[in-house]
Amino acid sequence: MNETLSYIDSNGERFVEELKDFLRIPSISANSTYDPETRRAAEFVAAEAVRIGLENVRILETAGHPVVYADWLHADGKPTVLIYGHYDVQPPEPLELWTNPPFEPTVEGDSIYARGSIDDKGQVFMHLKSLESLLATTGGLPANVKIIIEGEEEVGSPNLPPFLAAHKELLACDTVMISDTTMYDYEMPGITYGLRGLAYFELHVVGPDRDLHSGMFGGAVANPINALCELIAKMKDSAGRVQLPGFYDNVVDVSPKERAELERLPYSATDFCSMINIPITVGEAGYSDLERLWARPTLDVCGIWGGYQGEGAKTVLPSKAAAKISMRLVANQDYRKVADQLRAFIQEHKPSGVSIEVIELHGGPPALTPTDSVPVRAALRALETAFGTKPFLIRSGGSIPIVADFEEQLGAPVVLMGFGLPDQNAHSPNEKMNLSNYHRGIKSSALFLQEYSRMYAAE
Ligand SMILES: [Zn+2]
Repeated sequence: MNETLSYIDSNGERFVEELKDFLRIPSISANSTYDPETRRAAEFVAAEAVRIGLENVRILETAGHPVVYADWLHADGKPTVLIYGHYDVQPPEPLELWTNPPFEPTVEGDSIYARGSIDDKGQVFMHLKSLESLLATTGGLPANVKIIIEGEEEVGSPNLPPFLAAHKELLACDTVMISDTTMYDYEMPGITYGLRGLAYFELHVVGPDRDLHSGMFGGAVANPINALCELIAKMKDSAGRVQLPGFYDNVVDVSPKERAELERLPYSATDFCSMINIPITVGEAGYSDLERLWARPTLDVCGIWGGYQGEGAKTVLPSKAAAKISMRLVANQDYRKVADQLRAFIQEHKPSGVSIEVIELHGGPPALTPTDSVPVRAALRALETAFGTKPFLIRSGGSIPIVADFEEQLGAPVVLMGFGLPDQNAHSPNEKMNLSNYHRGIKSSALFLQEYSRMYAAE
C-alpha cells in the first residue's frame, strides 16, 4: 500500500490535469441542448476506465442518459465493491455570478473551480485515480470492483431504479460505495450513515362554490383558509411533536452511543443562528439541534395560498385554500404509511363545513446504515489513515432516494464516504473542490478497498 500511496503523491498534478479534461465537458443532464455533451462525458468515463485497466467497460443505454459500467473481478475469494457516482452536472446559471466560466476549470489556492468539481466529477475521479494507482503499482486490486457512473442524478435518477432491477446479476456486490456527500467541516472527514426520507403532500380545502361577501356571509359560512390553518395548527403539539396517528411508531430513536458521537461534533448554536440570521433554534423537545436536523422527523408547510392577495382590503370569504406540506422521515418510517396517517388525521380533525382533498406529490424512503458494519468500519479506518485524524459518524437531513434503491435491489449496505464541504457551492455559482481533499480522497478510496478486503476476510 505504501507504494500505491507514494504513486498517488507523485502523480498528484497529473491527476488534477486529467480531472480538468472531465470538468470541461458541459454534461448538463437537465438541458437537452447539451445531450451530445452529456454523452461525451459518459464516453470520457468509459475511455478512462479502459485506460486505467478496468475491464468489461460498457456504455449501457437507459430511457435517458446512459450508465457507464466497468469492472475488475480477479480478486478471488475477496468481496465485491460497487462504486456509484454521476457524470452529469447541474445547470450553471446564473452565469454572471461565476468568477471564472463554469466549464473552464481554474485552480486558485488549494481549490479547483468548475461546475461538477465536487458534485460529482471530482469524487468520481477520486475512485478512478485510486483504481489506477492500485493497478499500476500492484498489478491488481485488493477487492473485486464494479463501477456504475450514471448521467441523470441531477434530474432525480428517474431511470436508475429500473436499471438496477434489470441488472441485478451484473451489479451483484457485497457493498455499495458512494462519494457524493459532504464532510462535517474542513479537516473533519466522516461517514454519513443516515439520510432522511420524504413524504410531500398538497392539501386542497374547498368551502362555498364561489368567493363570497365577507359581510353578508361571514359568520355562518366555513372559511377554507381558517379551516386549513386550524388543521395545520393541530398537526404539531407545543412540544414540537407531530400529531398524525402512529407517526412515531416505527421511528428508530437516537441511541445513547449515537448521542455521544453527535456531541463530539463542534456544533455551535450561535454560529448556526448567525449564519441564517435567526434569534434562536426551535424544535422537538428533548432533542439537540443536530438530532432534530438529522435524526428526527419533521413536518413543515412549504407553501400556502388562497383568497385575496392583491393590494388593499377586499372583503372576501374565499371559496378555496391550499397548502404544500413536507415531512422529512427517518428510519424506519414508510412514506406510504405516512399518507394513510395524514388521511386518518384529517378524518379526525376536519373542521366542519369544508371538504378536503389530499394529493400525494412525492415520497422517498429514509436510510440508516448500521455503523458497526464491516464496510463502514473499513471506511472509517481508511479515512483515519488518509486524513491523519479520527473521522466522524454523521447524518444528513436531506434525502438521497437511490440509497434505499441500492439496498432494496441489490441487498447490499451502502457506504456514503463523501469529500464535499458545506461551503463548496454544489449546485451554486463558483462550485469548487478542495485539492488536498481530492488527494486524500484518492488515498481513502485505495485504503478502503484494502481495509474492507482484510476486515471482510476476518469476519
Ligand atoms: Zn451529486
